[in-house]
Amino acid sequence: MPRPLRVAIGGIHIESSTFSPHLSTAHDFEVTRGDALLARYAWLSPVAAWAADVEWIPLVHARALPGGAVEPSTYDAWATEIVEKLAEAGPVDGMLLDIHGAMSVVGRDDAEGDLVTAIRAQIGPEPFISAAMDLHGNVSHVLFDNCDLLTCYRTAPHVDVWETRERAALNLVEALRREERPHKALVHVPILLPGEMTSTRDEPARSLYGRIPDVEARDGVIDAAIWVGFAWADQPRCRGAVVATGTDPTATAEAARELGERFWAARDEFTFVAPTGSMDECLDTALGAISEPTRRPFFISDSGDNPGAGGADDVTFALDRMLARPEISDGAIRAVYASLVDPEAVAHVADQPIGSPVEVRVGGRIDPRDPGPLELKGTLEAVAEDPDGGRCVSVRVGGLSVFVTSRRMQYRLLSSYARLGVAVDQVDVVVVKIGYLEPELFEASGDWRLALTPGGVDQDLVRLPYERVLRPVFPLDRDFTADLAVVTR
Ligand SMILES: [Zn+2]
Repeated sequence: MPRPLRVAIGGIHIESSTFSPHLSTAHDFEVTRGDALLARYAWLSPVAAWAADVEWIPLVHARALPGGAVEPSTYDAWATEIVEKLAEAGPVDGMLLDIHGAMSVVGRDDAEGDLVTAIRAQIGPEPFISAAMDLHGNVSHVLFDNCDLLTCYRTAPHVDVWETRERAALNLVEALRREERPHKALVHVPILLPGEMTSTRDEPARSLYGRIPDVEARDGVIDAAIWVGFAWADQPRCRGAVVATGTDPTATAEAARELGERFWAARDEFTFVAPTGSMDECLDTALGAISEPTRRPFFISDSGDNPGAGGADDVTFALDRMLARPEISDGAIRAVYASLVDPEAVAHVADQPIGSPVEVRVGGRIDPRDPGPLELKGTLEAVAEDPDGGRCVSVRVGGLSVFVTSRRMQYRLLSSYARLGVAVDQVDVVVVKIGYLEPELFEASGDWRLALTPGGVDQDLVRLPYERVLRPVFPLDRDFTADLAVVTR
């Protein structure tokens, strides 16, 4: 009887912005090892038929909320652990690399490239490596060269996360059973796009990603994948990418070429998922709309400091613009600001009785950009423990409830608002640090604007201080012919 295949699983999963002053540390990660790591994967409990006769070897998996660049010692510790556990495991046939693909580590340009290089140095050239990624990740030449299969999500918002990992694992096992190293083709597409322009619910991403099943179904093609890429890191690797893998080199190269050309041809059609404006323009619209009951509550996304994309979560720009409105500060308008992370401010006020007058400095500690920390003078309205944000408070200033949290969090669930005593449907205006509205908020909203506010994940890419991305790249450059060369291995 042939021995079972031996497949290792591990990785580091984070999307981290080099434009955000937040530093991601070990504290921000959830780490799994051993059986807990294997329990992440549905095809292993119970074991799917295709996954039987495989010895699955758990290494370590570390995963964090999007944030700023990762502290080098944190990254090094897990990269070292992955390599050491591979050494302990002995020879393997393959590895599933479970990563996001947009990990920035302070001082390094291609963290996932470094990681896969270290893994190759340990396991050697023979084993197959299959990478399962987020479509907001990047595919450097180093990552492409060292992996035998690479794929990514096909939906944004991402509803096929686990399907993608299973596809990556299944394609790996099948390639190992065929004993045939896949052919690969890569096309880099010189485009930087914000996630809020590339929802696969909307055109042109909907049709572009909609082509994948047809392309993948062709003879000789194993998988086809399109990476939008990550726009908030100033690294040469950041750009769109298409990778096809297959058993036939011509069909594989053709699949990558076709999808790469379609992606590039659609570049001018990507638009924001909601009407946009400056914070003041969005407030003008919201305050003008609240006399129409169907448009309440009016949501405004404070998108430039969205912690769900890597923002620091404490830029005070949008809050400052709200407080400048007399209708809000005098209480005529009922509004919510969700939220700022500031554990010191929470600790300063949270032990006082509800209803106490408070004066507290909030925000601007991690990302001090204009206007920096703000002095809030109001009353303590609520204190709550939140599973994401830790201890949280609401400070009432006129008609505005300002939420302050102990840990970075995104107010994407109505239950999080309710914990601080706010029923969203009783409010006129909700400003939230988010990009596209998550489903519950979208359902609850009467109307919505995406404010192009400043921050570490500014959606208005041409305002970002890029120095190191490869040029030309759309939309920083607009009048050029793209090099859509197909790289094959
Ligand atoms: Zn993503």
